[in-house]
Amino acid sequence: MPAVVSIKSARKSFGAVEVLRGISLEVACGEVVAVIGPSGGGKSTLLRCMTLLETLDAGGLSYGEVDVAVPGEGGTSVYAKGDVLKRARGRFGLVFQNYNLFPHFTVMRNIVDAPIRVQRRDRAEVERRAWELIERMGLAGCEDKVPCQLSGGQQQRVAIARALAMDPEVIFFDEPTSALDPELTAGVLRVIRGLAAEDMTMVVVTHEMDFAREVADRVVFMDGGVIVEEGPAEQVLDNPREGRTRAFLARIE
Ligand code: ADP
Ligand code: MG
Repeated sequence: MPAVVSIKSARKSFGAVEVLRGISLEVACGEVVAVIGPSGGGKSTLLRCMTLLETLDAGGLSYGEVDVAVPGEGGTSVYAKGDVLKRARGRFGLVFQNYNLFPHFTVMRNIVDAPIRVQRRDRAEVERRAWELIERMGLAGCEDKVPCQLSGGQQQRVAIARALAMDPEVIFFDEPTSALDPELTAGVLRVIRGLAAEDMTMVVVTHEMDFAREVADRVVFMDGGVIVEEGPAEQVLDNPREGRTRAFLARIE
């Protein structure tokens, strides 16, 4: 079975600064990958390249058997045509640190907008699914509210419901709890833990090491635009091989 998503020898620069310096990562169906590492190491850029918010300079990117970008001459990434990219965009969900909800849309509309407008699915079916997700995310009673009437934790759970409403094959989370107080963090982590228990394929950038240890099948430590070390959570977090991983873990604990 091909990887759900795979990025190969990825390179990305902003001006003179090379932020991704040859990253390869494959995510298998049902796998939960936690990405950890110091600020500025390229974690968000990696997620933005994997979710087509940024284009790679060099390297390849595939979703299942679909090549979104392939290395051309000298490794320079050559991207597929617009319709291929558009379909690829329907295969993943993305949850940001700052929720990125539509501020003027109700909770319900935030969840159903893309499935109806972008995926052109049947409104009644999408709304039925949205009610299920609202219930499941502990948001019952919030469906007619707008984001500013909700706590940060509730907003993040709307963002997760919105991602799930697209029926993605994989969800990317970029520090989903970094903007939240501890008591609100717990509710969001509980939701992600529940998805992991249902074998949702996920890539989670996180500073929550206990959470990573608990839910991740694999931990990837990134620093300076490269993957320094990766392996089972227990190995990377409790028994790191690389000095840079040890130094990072010692600093945050
Ligand atoms: P992380 O998420 O690990 O903290 P980022 O991917 O956000 O790391 O950033 C890696 C480096 O790339 C940083 O030095 C950051 O300043 C730089 N960077 C990220 N996005 C941009 C951008 N759009 N333009 C210029 N520099 C950027
Ligand atoms: Mg980041």
